Amino acid sequence: KRKSGEIFPERLSIARISNENGEPIHYIEIFSDITSEFASKEKIHQLAYIDALTGLPNRQMMLDRIQNEIDRCGRIGGQFALLFVDLDLFKNINDRYGHPMGDEILHLVANRLRESVRKCDIVGRLGGDEFLLIIPDLGHSDFVAVVAEKIVAQLAQPFLTKNTELVVSGSIGISIFPDDAADVTELMKHADVAMYEAKKRGRNGYQYFSPELHSHALRRIALNSALRGAALRNELRIVWQPQVDLLTGKFVGMEALMRWTSADGSAISPVEFIPIAEESGLIVSLGDWVIATVCKQIKTWRDQGFRPPPVAINISGIQIERSAVGSTIRSYLDLFGLNADAITIEITESVLMRFSGDAGDEFQDLLSLGSNIAIDDFGTGYSSLAYLKHIAVAKLKIDIAFVREIVTGPRDRPIVGAITSMAGQLGIMTIAEGVETEAQAQILRALGVNIGQGYLWSPPIETADIQSWLPKSPI
Ligand code: C2E
Ligand code: MG
Ligand code: MG
Repeated sequence: KRKSGEIFPERLSIARISNENGEPIHYIEIFSDITSEFASKEKIHQLAYIDALTGLPNRQMMLDRIQNEIDRCGRIGGQFALLFVDLDLFKNINDRYGHPMGDEILHLVANRLRESVRKCDIVGRLGGDEFLLIIPDLGHSDFVAVVAEKIVAQLAQPFLTKNTELVVSGSIGISIFPDDAADVTELMKHADVAMYEAKKRGRNGYQYFSPELHSHALRRIALNSALRGAALRNELRIVWQPQVDLLTGKFVGMEALMRWTSADGSAISPVEFIPIAEESGLIVSLGDWVIATVCKQIKTWRDQGFRPPPVAINISGIQIERSAVGSTIRSYLDLFGLNADAITIEITESVLMRFSGDAGDEFQDLLSLGSNIAIDDFGTGYSSLAYLKHIAVAKLKIDIAFVREIVTGPRDRPIVGAITSMAGQLGIMTIAEGVETEAQAQILRALGVNIGQGYLWSPPIETADIQSWLPKSPI
C-alpha cells in the first residue's frame, strides 16, 4: 500500500547475508514499483484478447477458451456447443447507412447476445459481423436449439439506433463437442459449415452440423410444443394394466399409463415424450392431469358399483422437485372422496435416492399422504439400498430387465431371488414387470415374487376394457 492507502504492485527480491558460521545476519531487500509495467501488460492483454468495438473476447481469446473447454471435458467428461452467429445481409447496412451505423449495430448485437445466454456461457466476436458463443455444461444437445431459437428471436427484434430503427437477423451454425469434432479447428470449421447451411435455408434460423442431431432436436422441440395443451385438446388418455397375484391369480391392482395421440393422429410412446416433458417441465401439468383423471375415474367406477383395486400412478422426479405434488394428490383425493389407499405412488429408485437424502418438504409431503409407495424399475438405478432404511416402501417393482431372460439367463434367477428374500424380510411386496410367458411366471412364483404384471395377463388396455376386470361391490 502507498501512504495514501492505494494498493499498487511491487516486485520484491530478498537476499540473505550470512556470517562465517552460515547464520543470517542481514537481509537485503530490493523493491521496485511496477505499476506502469503492469498497466502496459494489461493494455497488451486487452489489445491481444479483447475486441475494441464491443468489449467482447476476440477470436484469439475465444480459441483459447474453446481449448480450455475441450481440456475440461476431456478431464471430467461432458459436452459443450459452439454457436457460430453471422448477421444476415450486414453488408447492406454498412453500404446504405455507413460504417458508424454498422459499428453501432454490432455493439447492440453484442449486448443482445450477452443478454440471451446464461452467465456461464461465453460470447465473443470473431471479427466483422461474426460472433461466436460457447455453451458449456450441456446437459443435452437439444438444449442448444432452445438457446439458438432464443438468439434468432432476439436478433429479429428491431434495433433502435440514435437515428433510426433497423431490422437485422442472424444465422447460426452449431457444432457439438465431442460428437462433431474433437479439436478447436474442426469444431470451428463445422460450426461455420452449419452456419452456411442455415443461410442457404433462408437465413434467420439455425442449423446443427450433424443432420441427425438437427432432426432430433427439431423433433423434440416440435413434440414439446405439440404436447403443450394436449390435455385440453383431449389428445391424452389413460390406459390400465392389471396386476395379478402370482399364487391365487387374483386381480390385485393396476397401473395407469399415459397415452398421447397427437393432433395429426400419430401415437407417440411415453418412452419418447415423458423425457421431453421432464426436460421442459411440462411433466408437471401432464402429471397433474394424470392424477386428476385417475382419481376421477376411480370415483366414476365406484359410483357405478365397481370396487377397483389400488391404481398405481407414475410420478416423475420433476413433479416432486417443481411442484407440490403431495398436496395436488391430496386435493384430488379429497375432491373425489377417496382415501389414500385408492392409489399407489410409483417412483423410480433414482428419484427416491435423490430426495431421501435431505428429504425435502415436498417429498415428505408426498410420503405423508399415506398412499403406498412402489419403487419402479427396481435394480436398474443406483441400487443404493440405504433409502430402504428410512422410507416405508410398500412394493418393489422388479425391472423387466431381470424378467426378460429369467428362463434362460443363469444370473437373473439369483438376482430376483435375492431381491425377494430381502423384500420379504423387510415386509415389502414384490411385483415382476413385463411378464410375457407362463414359464417366466412359474419361475417368478417359485422365487417368491408376489405379483405379476405383463402381456401374459393383459397389455395396458382402454378404460372401457378394464371394466370387465373390476369386481362389483356386493349389494
Ligand atoms: P413403467 O412405469 O415401468 O411402465 C411399464 C412399461 O412396460 C409400460 O410401457 C408398459 O406398457 C410396458 N409393459 C407392460 N407389460 C409388458 C410386457 O409384458 N412386455 C413388455 N415388453 N413391456 C411391457 P409404456 O406404457 O410405454 O410406458 C413407458 C414408461 O413411460 C413407463 O414405464 C413410465 O416410466 C413412463 N410413463 C407412462 N405413463 C406415465 C405417467 O403418467 N407419468 C409418468 N411420469 N411416467 C409415465
Ligand atoms: Mg411404472
Ligand atoms: Mg417399470
